[in-house]
Amino acid sequence: MTEATARLIDGKAVAAEIRAEIGRHVAAIMRDRAVPPGLAVILIGEDPASQVYVRSKEKLAGEAGFKSVVYRRPADTPEEALLTLIEGLNEDPTIHGILVQLPVPAQIDEAKIIEAISPEKDVDGFHPTNVGRLVAGQSALVPCTPLGCLTLLKRELGDLSGANAVVIGRSNIVGKPMASLLLRESCTVTTAHSRTRDLPDLCRRADILVPAIGKPRFVKGDWVKPGAAVIDVGINRVDAGRGDGSTRLVGDVDFDSAVKVAGVITPVPGGVGPMTIAMLLRNTLEAYCRINRIPFPMA
Ligand code: NAD
Repeated sequence: MTEATARLIDGKAVAAEIRAEIGRHVAAIMRDRAVPPGLAVILIGEDPASQVYVRSKEKLAGEAGFKSVVYRRPADTPEEALLTLIEGLNEDPTIHGILVQLPVPAQIDEAKIIEAISPEKDVDGFHPTNVGRLVAGQSALVPCTPLGCLTLLKRELGDLSGANAVVIGRSNIVGKPMASLLLRESCTVTTAHSRTRDLPDLCRRADILVPAIGKPRFVKGDWVKPGAAVIDVGINRVDAGRGDGSTRLVGDVDFDSAVKVAGVITPVPGGVGPMTIAMLLRNTLEAYCRINRIPFPMA
């Protein structure tokens, strides 16, 4: 008898479809307008992972027909200079989305920077105004990674109402907004974290399980409820086991054991990861439509 195997969610393919759809909307909008959606990305310092992310954001924004500008500044940039740059972009009519690549160097107060971005251009959805609007059930710009997870879940499962959802992790970037989004979809949501007792047992009751922890292969297959949807947010670099020092990416879920129990599951890489930039472009288009008072053409 062969073991049951979960259906894999191809986040890479879904993200490519969404980016193509965004590109078509931008092309249609540009038949009547001179200024395309504009995304400004600010990168402070030379963190290699951040450089890779920013290059992909720049490339994919350009491919979707956006104006894309990257401001690269040295690691010792004073906070005041960054605030001045953001103020200018808040006023710039050709820019509709502003993103400061996190983390920022120690001399810069991250919360102050996030609050300096105009909420209507806050395409990362981290500004307290957008956080509050999401929690209050009002229209908001929503953080890209959890929005990508929700998009995958709704495409796979349709209506989520009544499902037991367990989110592991309570960060402002992933865990907390993910829980708010699932609550908005009428799930019964539990947010677990490093102090949660009996996590395996809690996970076993989840119809929807979203680990966002940052610990390789932490969630085991026998923690997963048979048939559950598992959305693995974790991105962890581990030794590839080839004995040559090479590395590979794994998620927070022990994929090999979980895939035998879950109903649907995202792989790492190729699951949640590619959705984040697709959602960034979606948010920038949404911000553009709101600023220009034209209907936002996407769901
Ligand atoms: P974070 O470090 O800010 O938060 C981790 C959370 O995990 C914390 O809330 C903590 O309470 C919880 N946690 C830690 N140890 C735990 C344990 N033993 N049991 C239960 N909970 C525990 O991380 P983050 O920024 O939310 O990112 C989480 C993971 O998601 C990382 O691997 C990160 O690389 C990845 N990530 C992926 C994307 C993407 O585009 N796919 C985007 C953002 C983050």
